[in-house]
Amino acid sequence: MSWKRGLPLVAVASAFLVAMTATPAKAVFNPIGTEPTAPYAQPVDAAVPKRGCATTIADPKSPGSSIPAVQVIYAWHDGNGNNYATYVEKIAKIMDRIDWLLDNSTNYDQHVNFSCRTGFDTSTYNGYAQALVVPEKIEAGNLSGETGLGTIVADLAAAGYNDSPNRIYLVFEDFDGTATATEVGCTVSPCVASTDDWDSGTAGHELMHSMGAEHTYITEVPNATYGNDIMISQYNDWQWDQDFNTYYDPSELSATFYIDQYQGIGEPSPDYRKDNLADHPILTAPVCCDTGYNSDLLTAQERTIEANAPWSSPTGFSLSGAGWFQVTAPGPESGVSARYYDGRRSLTVNVQSHAEGVVSVTRKPSVTPGTRYRFFSRLTTNTSGSVKLRLSWYNSSNTPLSTNDSSTFALDSVWREYSVSAVAPAGAATVQISVVSPSGQNFAYFLDSLQLNQCTNGVTSDGCRLPHP
Ligand SMILES: [Zn+2]
Repeated sequence: MSWKRGLPLVAVASAFLVAMTATPAKAVFNPIGTEPTAPYAQPVDAAVPKRGCATTIADPKSPGSSIPAVQVIYAWHDGNGNNYATYVEKIAKIMDRIDWLLDNSTNYDQHVNFSCRTGFDTSTYNGYAQALVVPEKIEAGNLSGETGLGTIVADLAAAGYNDSPNRIYLVFEDFDGTATATEVGCTVSPCVASTDDWDSGTAGHELMHSMGAEHTYITEVPNATYGNDIMISQYNDWQWDQDFNTYYDPSELSATFYIDQYQGIGEPSPDYRKDNLADHPILTAPVCCDTGYNSDLLTAQERTIEANAPWSSPTGFSLSGAGWFQVTAPGPESGVSARYYDGRRSLTVNVQSHAEGVVSVTRKPSVTPGTRYRFFSRLTTNTSGSVKLRLSWYNSSNTPLSTNDSSTFALDSVWREYSVSAVAPAGAATVQISVVSPSGQNFAYFLDSLQLNQCTNGVTSDGCRLPHP
């Protein structure tokens, strides 16, 4: 078996996970994990929709020309025995939850393709579970200690489960194993993700590594991970890509994101590959719009200014009043999102004192009167100064109707998230989002990670995603 550059990176991830999941030795191995409950509690088992089989084939080792899909495997060895009958419905329910958490992360309808085998009555849950989950004995498993992923990969390949990229093999280990994946974004076969900690957060996280997602590094701060996401805190959080700007953007499939912008511990180099999981072949095409936790009305360029080079004038943004702006110039790795020129740009806004300065996204997204909207952005400064965020409402003739300003925020040297929300007034057709520097100041600030929620999720108090801490 050979692994490409993903190995050291995933090995670090694996060590991290193992350290976080260390549990006392048990007489009998218990793989059942705890479901993540943020940003809100998942439904009880009976209320989780049955995803069902997206494709059904006679031999799960030979997917042939069937659509790309996940093949679920129950792996066992003589150390803990074969408990397939006990666990098969539990594993199917976790898979249904993985599909649920994808669909409910955003206001897009999107689902995972599951591969099933023929020979079972899938109208019953037990028959569906048996069609979905294939048992495989790992003969070379370590009966008295941890069985590594390499042993499982070798076993699957020898058994004939070796048809990637048509299949990603998601392995539920019924023994002391690892929560890991062969690669971030599989380029070798078999493409395998595994977990000995059975819940939708951990299993989903490892599957998403195989699909091409890295841990969520905050875009502005080199090597800082970002907490509110299944790709870093899968024990707490089930939601995908809270900012639509790290690995998943169902609203713009042509938008891609650097999956890892910085040279992390144990990694040979920054990973400049670009990806967008919303376009992955094991998923159905995303369809707007249903009810989901998170939404965004901006384009990728409006969120992260990634299309423009340092020093240039930013496409899609405009400035009025006092001051001038440019795409942030190269600089130190702290503060300015400029360490590697990898597309994770920010704007530098130079504030002048003689008047208010207003930086806006030029395009005005459409809005519905009576619906709440929330504009988020991250802002910082190397000195000190104050800004506020603004929503400006326009009617269908592009005539200004009214504005809603946030309070005035005193910026500091940390990239913090700020936001403002308001209900679109009667007659509103569009909204413009702006960052406003009150007059009388001379300083520079940095602006990045914009997002505009349509607050209709039905699960948080104001219908918008939760603010980041
Ligand atoms: Zn991981």
